[in-house]
Amino acid sequence: MLGYSGKFLEVSLSTESIQEITIDDDVLRDYVGGRGLAAKILWDKLGAKWETIDPLGPENILLFLTGPLTGFFPGGRTCVSGKSPQSNGIVGSTVGGEFGVELRCSGYDGIILYGKAKRPCYLFVKDSDVELRDASHVWGKDAKQTVKILTKECRELLKRRFPQYGEFKEPAILYIGPAGENKVLTAVVAAKWTHAAGYGGYGAVMGSKGLKAIAVKGTGPLPQVADIGKVKRLIQKVCDNAYEDELWRRWGTGAAGYEVGAKTSSEPVRNWQDEWHDERSFGVDKFEDRVWIKQFWGDFGCPTCCLKIAMVKTGQFKGAITDNPDYELQAYLGTNLGLFTPEENVFLSALIDDLGLCGIQTGNVLGFAAELFQRGIFTKEDLDGIELNWGDANAFAALVRKIAFREGIGDMLAQGTYRAALKISEAKKVDVLQYVVQSKGISIGAHGIRSGKDYPHIISYACSVQGGDHTSTAALPLNGPGSELWGIFNDSAVYCFFNSFGLKRKVRFDFYKAVTGLELTPEEWCSSKALRILQLQRAMLLLGGPDLKWNPKIHDDNPPRFYEPLPSGPYKGKTTQKAMVQKYKRRYYKEAGWDKNGIPESENLRKLGLEDVDKALKRIRQ
Ligand code: SF4
Repeated sequence: MLGYSGKFLEVSLSTESIQEITIDDDVLRDYVGGRGLAAKILWDKLGAKWETIDPLGPENILLFLTGPLTGFFPGGRTCVSGKSPQSNGIVGSTVGGEFGVELRCSGYDGIILYGKAKRPCYLFVKDSDVELRDASHVWGKDAKQTVKILTKECRELLKRRFPQYGEFKEPAILYIGPAGENKVLTAVVAAKWTHAAGYGGYGAVMGSKGLKAIAVKGTGPLPQVADIGKVKRLIQKVCDNAYEDELWRRWGTGAAGYEVGAKTSSEPVRNWQDEWHDERSFGVDKFEDRVWIKQFWGDFGCPTCCLKIAMVKTGQFKGAITDNPDYELQAYLGTNLGLFTPEENVFLSALIDDLGLCGIQTGNVLGFAAELFQRGIFTKEDLDGIELNWGDANAFAALVRKIAFREGIGDMLAQGTYRAALKISEAKKVDVLQYVVQSKGISIGAHGIRSGKDYPHIISYACSVQGGDHTSTAALPLNGPGSELWGIFNDSAVYCFFNSFGLKRKVRFDFYKAVTGLELTPEEWCSSKALRILQLQRAMLLLGGPDLKWNPKIHDDNPPRFYEPLPSGPYKGKTTQKAMVQKYKRRYYKEAGWDKNGIPESENLRKLGLEDVDKALKRIRQ
């Protein structure tokens, strides 16, 4: 099929067998790639016994998928998925970088991984030469060491085996850090030292399978497209549009670091006890002046190059190096912990990257733990001697290391905020769930809803099939701007949606047609294809298990904190109205084709050709 390589790699880590498979054109047409295809593959292979599958057990399947726009639409990305140990549903979790492009140039649209390795290994792909290699020497190594060692090793191997090519450039590598190896639920699948597929907990899944990394180098071309002239013109259009956005190119998402707190009052401050601050010391210009050592750093073919490299130049954290940090990390490893200097923020971000943790979700756990300490629910003894005061970067760093290595209190916090809160509530006989800011086991991104001035709607996190993921939020109307259905397109066609800002939605569909030759209108996308993917994700989320299940009546809701009034700032006193949430939730259910209990209705599922999903949902219908 045009726009696709046509082959997928199927790898059993248990038996070390590797084979090439194809997927029917009809399936690719309906589910596109990335997140959509992941939902289809996981449902077909695991749907019948979904509730019994342990996400960290060998039965889980881990997917690394591209989409038809990967490598064509400027800015490279890859979608990672599987049964999520956070939500027990599935998350389409994307990571920037060249991995997906190298994979497509090797002749594959994706990798489907089964089982569990007997010893630590990594997968090496050079076109059709694919093998599992020993990874004992990098198991336990941090991100920088892992990338350095594997890059050198793979380049030497490539040069030895394929001398006709001379020196090889570095392969694209996806890897886990120590946190993933230790099955910490907030562990990421990472790339390029600092890029991460964070939501979903797939670093823990990779660790549970004994897979340290996948290294890919492709020497072939990208797949054949339907209309190469049109593809080139569209690439130019995307680039021209991006070049006009000076602010985005100069600052990236980091520009929001001060604005979202001071102007829209929607940034997490001290575990969301507030969402407003006026800390000018934390503005993006301070990052530019004090820590950025490289600006305009980008991923494959990207005209925006929104990334930066930041390094602490003086003081106790001198030498700490990471990217940006972007807005989300400025918030979650900054304001959310009462930290308001670029140096502390870079230091913590670098540590999180090195250990292979998700900055958003680990920052969420840290804020939660600090609030328990503030309230006297956690004592210094509970925290293994750490005094977890707001604004103490060293104390937070000490706790981060404990989480990554599951030491002491870190073992409990390594389960993520929600699961840890359930255990702490039981142990302390205090309801600490009131301090947890998450949805469906997934920490809420750094955009609050109480002021009503940021982009998420009051039901965005409550109704999303990806819980707290701020890149895939629910909104009304279902086909309107901000709808989760567009997030599904981005993650299924697999490209960086930052490069589509300011472009008419139609351009993305024109691009899809120029690459695949397939006509797809936004209307068709919303009324059938995206809706089908949404239903599959919803079904798997509700089936859940084995450790937790979600009841829409209780869990399709905002965290309790979002119903507290904002304590300060221009929107002081504003909060979320529960009655309004209920009203919009009912409307959302109706538009999505779900019954009053939030379960996809038989008739709608059958219309979409999902009879087997309908049958399976009988297991949870009353
Ligand atoms: S816009 Fe930023 S995140 Fe997106 S591809 Fe470009 S550099 Fe990467």
